Amino acid sequence: MSDATAKKEERRKFQAIRGTRDLLPPETALWNHVEQTAHQVFSTFGFGEIRQPIFEPTELFARAVGGETDIVSKEMYTFKEGTSDFAPNQGRNLSPEVARQMVSSFKNGEIPNTPGNATAVDRIEQTLKEITIAQERLSPETFDSMVEGYNVLLYRLAYLTGQVGEWVSLRPEATASVCRAYIEHNMQQLPQPVKLYYLGPMFRRERPQKGRYRQFYQIGAEILGGTDAPGIDAEVIEMLMTFFDKVSLQGATLYINSIGHNADNCRRGYVEKLKAALEQVKDKLGPDSQRRIDTNPLRVLDSKLESEQAIIATLPRIADHLCDECKTHYAEVKRQLEVRGVLYQENWRLVRGLDYYMRTTFEITAPGLGSQNAVCGGGRYDGLVELLAGPPTKGIGFAIGEDRLILSLQESGKGQAHQGRDIYIAWMGEKAYATAIRAAKDLRKAGYSVELPPLEQKFGKALGQADKLGAKFALILGENEVSEGLWTLKTLSDGTQQKLTESDLLEFLRQQEKVSS
Ligand code: AMP
Repeated sequence: MSDATAKKEERRKFQAIRGTRDLLPPETALWNHVEQTAHQVFSTFGFGEIRQPIFEPTELFARAVGGETDIVSKEMYTFKEGTSDFAPNQGRNLSPEVARQMVSSFKNGEIPNTPGNATAVDRIEQTLKEITIAQERLSPETFDSMVEGYNVLLYRLAYLTGQVGEWVSLRPEATASVCRAYIEHNMQQLPQPVKLYYLGPMFRRERPQKGRYRQFYQIGAEILGGTDAPGIDAEVIEMLMTFFDKVSLQGATLYINSIGHNADNCRRGYVEKLKAALEQVKDKLGPDSQRRIDTNPLRVLDSKLESEQAIIATLPRIADHLCDECKTHYAEVKRQLEVRGVLYQENWRLVRGLDYYMRTTFEITAPGLGSQNAVCGGGRYDGLVELLAGPPTKGIGFAIGEDRLILSLQESGKGQAHQGRDIYIAWMGEKAYATAIRAAKDLRKAGYSVELPPLEQKFGKALGQADKLGAKFALILGENEVSEGLWTLKTLSDGTQQKLTESDLLEFLRQQEKVSS
């Protein structure tokens, strides 16, 4: 490395990776408020929180989200998780002993039994046999002198151990993990349905733009093991709208649809008709939609391409092809939403392009977000748990995009919680400092946020500082206040000030809070 390069490296300033960002105060106060509201509202509907790992086997997402989706085929952060005791690439020094341990770890389940691992371990066993035979047949001297051949075998072992491990991905969404956990912990034995919610970061390698990040946050909920009663669908949507209302989201619009179920007299029949209609207009569609005619025709309805909108408007609609049961179910979901006072609009283009999704789908949009205006998506997925090797289980859920929700709140001016300090303590003189420390302690105990400067300041400077920090009050403690036992409280918004005893202070602050709320 040249000196210049070394210098440059030394001076490199690090920045957050593209598509990721720091969330900082005061904005984080709003994030906390939104999350607290989710905890409160969801628990009133009987949901409990689940906290899952941030990475899971890649295969879980491939199966649950779908191998042909953009999320799985292009956007996941995937890496090989080596088995810790047998780190891959141990090079030529790998001993047969370590390889034998690896085989036994695989057999007793410490190494995951994936098809790739099974093949690699099989070949490791084969190589070990060859080494044993060579050792048995040759005298130690001859064996040692045939270092070349021996090394080839060891090298093969080292290579194979590098193959053992598991592909894992940072979660692009959390429904798959919730279903995995439901199965893993035998939750079907608990009283049904099981209602779970989660919040946390998700990861997708998408092109970053406003409202679209590579690390973003979701708040989601799932009901597993229920029935197909439309009341479940309606209640989960009611909970969602209650939450949006509680966080004061303005202008949220709920769109709903039913995509039927995967049978010939329902969605499957519709998809055939859709496919045929799409073939007729194929030339007018863009390359993505053309490809989807074969791979996943329903997804064509998701297209945002301007040039395709007029064509899509002429395509057959699923509502006209639902079987009687699905039609009744959909009508009942709508009726129950009305009973609950939840306003909705129907959108026949709202689909989920995977077979195990069925019947109800919904999406909520909010203003102030540009083209990325969906703040929540959800639906019924009665076949998913079974697809992940669990028992037949009904499921329904949603995921809210927290980043977008916060953006929309900020754009509508609803995102400004009071973020300054409640009280700035302006003290002067050693004696006053001791009193100030005690006052800060008592006020914080009572729940107020207090700034106590560590060094003496002139009052003018202290008051300026209090203003900068957005404090509501300045508590002024000088020699006089301490000796008289009467403290001065200045209301910074209007400059008024009054003298209060220590015990009157708390009472006064409480009264003020009542007035402002
Ligand atoms: P999905 O899991 O794709 O159904 O997304 C559910 C919600 O998560 C969407 O409605 C968005 O609000 C949000 N979301 C999805 N992808 C992103 C992203 N890359 N950045 C920010 N929010 C996202």
